Amino acid sequence: QKFVYDFTEGNKELKDLLGGKGANLAEMTNLGLPVPPGFIITTEACKVYLDSGHEPAELRDEVSAHLDALEQKMGKKLGQPDNPLLVSVRSGAKFSMPGMMDTVLNIGMSDASVAGLAAQAGDERFAWDSYRRLLQMFGKTVMGVDGELFEEALEEIKRAKGAESDLGLDAADLQQLVEEFKSIVLKEAGREFPQEPREQMDLAVRAVFDSWNTDRAKLYRRQERIPGDLGTAVNICSMVFGNLGPDSGTGVAFTRDPATGHQGVYGDYLQNAQGEDVVAGIRNTVPLADLEGLDKASYDQLMQIMTTLETHYKDLCDIEFTIERGHLWMLQTRVGKRTAAAAFRIATQLVDQGLIDEAEALQRVNGAQLAQLMFPRFEEDSKVTRLGWGIAASPGAAVGKAVFDSYTAVKWSRSGEKVILIRRETNPDDLNGMIAAEGILTSRGGKTSHAAVVARGMGKTCVCGAEELEVDTKRRRMTAPGGIVIEEGDVVSIDGSSGKVYLGEVPVVPSPVVEYFEGRMHAGADDADELVQAVHRIMAYADRVRRLRVRANADNAEDANRARRFGAQGIGLCRTEHMFLGERRELVERLILADTDSERDEALGALLPLQKADFIELFEAMDGLPVTVRLLDPPLHEFLPDITELSVRVALAESRKDANENDLRLLQAVHKLHEQNPMLGLRGVRLGLVIPGLFSMQVRAIAEAAAHRKDMKGDPRPEIMIPLVGTVQELEIVREEAEKVIAEVEAATGINLKLTLGTMIELPRAALTAGQIAEAAEFFSFGTNDLTQTVWGFSRDDVEASFFTAYLEKGIFGVSPFETIDRDGVGSLIRSACEAGRAARPGLKLGVCGEHGGDPESVHFFHEVGLDYVSCSPFRIPVARLEAGRAAA
Ligand code: PEP
Ligand code: MG
Repeated sequence: QKFVYDFTEGNKELKDLLGGKGANLAEMTNLGLPVPPGFIITTEACKVYLDSGHEPAELRDEVSAHLDALEQKMGKKLGQPDNPLLVSVRSGAKFSMPGMMDTVLNIGMSDASVAGLAAQAGDERFAWDSYRRLLQMFGKTVMGVDGELFEEALEEIKRAKGAESDLGLDAADLQQLVEEFKSIVLKEAGREFPQEPREQMDLAVRAVFDSWNTDRAKLYRRQERIPGDLGTAVNICSMVFGNLGPDSGTGVAFTRDPATGHQGVYGDYLQNAQGEDVVAGIRNTVPLADLEGLDKASYDQLMQIMTTLETHYKDLCDIEFTIERGHLWMLQTRVGKRTAAAAFRIATQLVDQGLIDEAEALQRVNGAQLAQLMFPRFEEDSKVTRLGWGIAASPGAAVGKAVFDSYTAVKWSRSGEKVILIRRETNPDDLNGMIAAEGILTSRGGKTSHAAVVARGMGKTCVCGAEELEVDTKRRRMTAPGGIVIEEGDVVSIDGSSGKVYLGEVPVVPSPVVEYFEGRMHAGADDADELVQAVHRIMAYADRVRRLRVRANADNAEDANRARRFGAQGIGLCRTEHMFLGERRELVERLILADTDSERDEALGALLPLQKADFIELFEAMDGLPVTVRLLDPPLHEFLPDITELSVRVALAESRKDANENDLRLLQAVHKLHEQNPMLGLRGVRLGLVIPGLFSMQVRAIAEAAAHRKDMKGDPRPEIMIPLVGTVQELEIVREEAEKVIAEVEAATGINLKLTLGTMIELPRAALTAGQIAEAAEFFSFGTNDLTQTVWGFSRDDVEASFFTAYLEKGIFGVSPFETIDRDGVGSLIRSACEAGRAARPGLKLGVCGEHGGDPESVHFFHEVGLDYVSCSPFRIPVARLEAGRAAA
């Protein structure tokens, strides 16, 4: 096994082995772009180290061989006193984890090599500055010294010299600082800073390996759903310097605007600085376009390289580069993160440029991004006080109370407050607060600052670099121009699409994408925005290729109509219990309380016309499309008064001696029907079997409504669905009763109704005996909410609020199984039920109507197991259509 690869040996497909950064450095090297020479230690070596606590035995010799070759190529040796080679040691996992892991620059600096570097660069100050940077980074990341101590020493010397920034320190000052840093290291770490260059390198490599498992890296991986066992590669790269004077500098750039997708010159440049200065947002950068005036040759070369990269990767790339005394070097590239809107635009732009085809375009976007585009925006002409204007770093409209530190953000959000995290700039320690906040606002840093990159990754609203705002984290307040002071707890609104920051709560308006789906904006219209056109095209690709049909969960005509506009191909779940809420609840109460047949018939008789009218509306809204009507499935506690409240009312009335007969009966019934576990109690088919006439009434209402619609020349296609079935016997009894009613209605109306009858599969027993159940069911619809509840034994109403946070933190699962289908457990039951069901009844129609039907990842699973359709809430229909298309493409 080979653990070390030269840049010339790798390529961009080897991300698993070489990490994203290494694979792309190799790719650029082989494209002939100016990459400083170097080599990569593989993720495999990291995994061996993480598993065993030791580097693989062969690693040392392999590194030596590659280092020799590098030294030959560069004509100098690592740390060589008179002509030192310096290297950077950088982490680089398969997936980018910005700022999460360690990097050490200037390895090779030592007491012995300072003079050599000074002579090499013709700059003594630079040499001492490089040394102090190594001490600082190495001391902090490798030797575990508190970074603040170095910062303080640096501040102290600046104060003593009256220097504004570190540029105001001369060689002698920096030399003094080096001595101080060395004694800080000795005092804090209990050992001398290692002077031997190879030892520096080996220790830095190990520190990078270790940084895979820091708390913040683990948290980030969980958030981003990056597996914990991938490990990181380590890139060892000869140093080039952006801090060698005004003809040097460093920058980051995008081949297109990551916020809109527009082509142009996007990036930031910082003269006379090293890369870390830009990423950390420490000094303010200038727009990349200004580089043209500073160094035209490098600028032109950079533009040329960006075109090469975009054509080669066929996608938006972001890059890091350094200019060393007029020589341009590429330090990194990767396919760049982008906003949701840009993803859609870029995908269609690349199709138009002939770089990718439609199937590939579908892979360039996803349902989560589409969902983001459906978020509302701030109302433009509402009366607002603008506090400031920053960089639109990650879109969305966020409103919340101002908080100035992560701890408070987490604390307040746990108690249900919406918060905006306001910082001068964020760093990886702010991650928890960023997750907890509705949005993030910073006063410093550009589009590539930590806040911007991380927020975009999380899909969180972010405005950064709002420089007019003065953030004072110590006093927990922010001052806006005009002296407006925002204290902790004051409400602010931030617009991540425009970069504007407002005082107070700003009203929000729907997104243009929703307006488009609603049919209020047409993609073909002259003024339709580019985004709407892009979404329109991508949706058309998805609809063309997808195999899954998409239905809606809808219980009334209004939802059904919206669902239809959003592209629903029917209703997969009409929950009839939702038709019994409000003032009709009393009728249900009467039904439950009925002691005699005549009382019961009376209650049912009152419900029948109401139900029938509901169904007529629904069938009309979905004319020509299937409508799955599920018979009543309420856990009874949802329909009866609360036992405590009612007891108190009755007790009070009794003490006043005016207890009402009805309340007394009701209380008796509530006592009788009270269940410890209503979700596992008298629900679904069980209720239909014990309340005579209930299901018959509902079936009659469906049949009569269908007959009525046919009379009106409509095309009703109802499917009757029985909930919570555990055994085929339950279904057989209901089916017999239903068929009788349907026959009666058909005879009375003379219309052949062609009703079908099927069942939900939402209990493990139903899934396990799906073959038997299919004998009595014309379709299955997986109720993955209850199935998840019963397979895991997780109460669906309680666990997310009680212990799921702990489960997520411990990494037991990366996402709630109520949100994304648990493939291994619940999913395997679904898979086998599908097979058994179809074996027993070829052509059995299969669908899903639990919440998972609209979850992007779950949709892919349902495609794989061969369902015919997914059903989800109306607003998620576009997402499901898109994901169904992506699954099939
Ligand atoms: C389900 O259990 O997945 C389902 C769709 O039914 P309900 O959520 O109404 O229980
Ligand atoms: Mg259910």
